[in-house]
Amino acid sequence: MSTFKIRKITDSFHPSNKNSIDQIFEILRSHFSSVKEDKINEILEQMKDPIKYKFSSSIFVAEDNQANVKGFAIVFYMPDTNFCYLDYLAVNPEKTSSGIGGAIYERIREEARLLDTIGIFMECLPDDEALCKDKSDIKQNQARLAFYERYGARVIINTKYETPVKPEDDCPPYLVFDNLGNDYDLSAKNAKKIVKAILERKYPDYCPQEYVKMVVSSIKNDPVELREYKYINKNHKVEKHKAIKNRIPLIVNDKHEIHHVKERGYIESPVRISSILKEISKLQAFELKTSRSFPDKYILEVHNPKYFNYFKKVCSSFAEGKSIYPYVFPLRNATRPPNDLSVLAGYYCIDTFTPLNKNAFIASRAAVNCALTGANLLLEGYHSAYALVRPPGHHAERDVFGGFCYFNNASIAAQLLSNYGKVAILDIDYHHGNGHQQIFYSRDDVLTVSIHGNPSFAYPYFSGFSEEIGEGIGTGYNQNYPLKENINGEEYLKALLKAIKRIKDFKPEYLVISLGLDIAKGDPTGTWSLSATDFKNNGREIGKLSFPILFIQEGGYKNRTLGINAKNFFEGFLSTRIK
Ligand SMILES: [Zn+2]
Repeated sequence: MSTFKIRKITDSFHPSNKNSIDQIFEILRSHFSSVKEDKINEILEQMKDPIKYKFSSSIFVAEDNQANVKGFAIVFYMPDTNFCYLDYLAVNPEKTSSGIGGAIYERIREEARLLDTIGIFMECLPDDEALCKDKSDIKQNQARLAFYERYGARVIINTKYETPVKPEDDCPPYLVFDNLGNDYDLSAKNAKKIVKAILERKYPDYCPQEYVKMVVSSIKNDPVELREYKYINKNHKVEKHKAIKNRIPLIVNDKHEIHHVKERGYIESPVRISSILKEISKLQAFELKTSRSFPDKYILEVHNPKYFNYFKKVCSSFAEGKSIYPYVFPLRNATRPPNDLSVLAGYYCIDTFTPLNKNAFIASRAAVNCALTGANLLLEGYHSAYALVRPPGHHAERDVFGGFCYFNNASIAAQLLSNYGKVAILDIDYHHGNGHQQIFYSRDDVLTVSIHGNPSFAYPYFSGFSEEIGEGIGTGYNQNYPLKENINGEEYLKALLKAIKRIKDFKPEYLVISLGLDIAKGDPTGTWSLSATDFKNNGREIGKLSFPILFIQEGGYKNRTLGINAKNFFEGFLSTRIK
């Protein structure tokens, strides 16, 4: 099978989505002649104004690597009645490749489960010759119903749903229900609400009120009856899925351990990851996902190629176990970089405690892959993801490394996401996210917000002041909240709420959180005193946000409480997470 990926589109006006949407409408026009031009405009209107239409619309699009659309589905989510409605599922007949339709439908079922809905409803043209004067499409209708039966989706029977609205209408559709493999019986009461919602919202101008009433009152069986399996063996087992609401895909950097600097006092150590993993796995909310590989070009959109090449080259030049630390810095003449690789370290670094060694590059490169995998999961429609990585990244700027960071994982992920809509980065590490600030300083499509110890006493000392607000068109799109030396959980929460307010006003499509846990009481690099309960409170506030959220691990060095604080943070997050 040729490769393709499925992406969820909620904003039809973003330029990068426009190309896909144009292709979708081209497919609709050329292959589904029954779809009229005003129908297409209506879909765009619906996406723009979910309040007016009382449902939110999403397009799931399957694309190959050249962004050719191979298939798509249009799905409505009706929160008041808690179901999904599949409006279209179409495969591009010119680019057919087996499995596309099934993959898209499986993705929609996953979405319906993530939203914790009772299931998916859809209309399918009948396979009953008695309902159709025109017999030519019966075979196609049979194939479609058989396709959905494989997922356990069956026709609702003994209602008047398949009554023509106008006498001249031929082949009136069935209503089909997929209960997502749960043993869920659809009550007559719910069915009435749902049928009313479908007819009124999907056909506001076509179905008269009397027609809607007639169909709704025809629902008498409780629970409603579903047609026996017709195309597959009735003992066919539809795969059952455990509830996956509140499930967070987790991507762990499996190459982090090789980056182990054993010098005394180097606190950015491998045990950090295992401490977090051990505790958060108790929540049973995380689903481990394999990290995928991404080309260097994603890094080069954020970091200077000269720095990238230097870092790669110098690391590969070391013998295993040997590290160098930067020791001369180009304060006097930055235009004349020295030739010697070890002297050059200071040209690309902001401090003297972040070493270069053979494994630093390999581990950092793998961490970037994890962050990009997380970003892609959001593009595919996951509501959140957590890249549990080290080395961290938020101190790495476009041209320089430092603060235990080499590649700016969160910024690289944000840059990828920014191709699909506005992005906010919220840095809640104890230390200022100078990398994010510097990388996006003159942009208005990526908002950077950081809450941290005031640089007058905290690393990185030279940035993070409140008057740094961005430049050019980026003015107003960088926001720093430098806090005093002694802060308790309550005071922290006040700053967090301000930051959240700023992000909500920005209305991003995606939120990337630089998740530092060094705000905790007793952290060797911090001065604050947040307890496990405070972490839970912080998570709770972030859980209330409705944007897809990508968490990227940054600092946090008090290993005894690190995992417990992470667990509490995510416990709070999940307790209020809006579906
Ligand atoms: Zn930190």
